[in-house]
Amino acid sequence: MVVDAGHGGDDHGGQGPGGLLEKDVVFDVALRLKQRLEAAGLRVVMTRAGDRFVALGERTEIANRAAADLFLSIHANASRHRSARGVETFFASPEATDEAARALAQVENQALGATLPAPVGDPLRAILGDLLATEYLADSQAFARLVQRRVTRAVAARSRGVKQAPFAVLMGVQMPAVLVEIGFLSNAADARALSSERKLESLAEQIQEAVVDFRARQNGRREARSPLHSATTEGGQ
Ligand SMILES: [Zn+2]
Repeated sequence: MVVDAGHGGDDHGGQGPGGLLEKDVVFDVALRLKQRLEAAGLRVVMTRAGDRFVALGERTEIANRAAADLFLSIHANASRHRSARGVETFFASPEATDEAARALAQVENQALGATLPAPVGDPLRAILGDLLATEYLADSQAFARLVQRRVTRAVAARSRGVKQAPFAVLMGVQMPAVLVEIGFLSNAADARALSSERKLESLAEQIQEAVVDFRARQNGRREARSPLHSATTEGGQ
């Protein structure tokens, strides 16, 4: 699978009042997750190996070239409203769940130096976007739900729910893809959690569990579709 730590290098992403940078927090979690998944025998591709800027197109290209089966982008939120807090998980859609989701996707798309997805008014681009987004829609949604539940549990945070928005990094990859915002750096309680080694490790652990759950779901579906499996089951083996 592909683990995409948001931002990097000169692109710091969001920033907490205490100086906590999104690029550092998300890379920390990404690295912990990579080590866990590899220890469990999974092949993991990181879109950035350290603190360096990687353009959005490069990230999706890395994922598609690896022909990976799953893509997870890790980000952290920041808001002018200090009371805003909690975890939210996104999967791609040309249209956003609400205005806040649309604005967030726009911020993340700009921060990553991406070309913004075409407005829905452009029929051809809208159709292409729809096709890309719907091909893996059900799987992305299922993975998003698992990630949201696990991450919320890991940081004992408020769940802001699973949402859809036109994140360019999700629209570009040809595999089930999810973007998780692991908390608000601008909120005191969330920032405290995201500064805790124990919470960061717990985050990685819970995301790993979400990946395990998702793979079990995929394998279950494959087995259910396989005629060999039905024959075996009917034979009473
Ligand atoms: Zn971000």
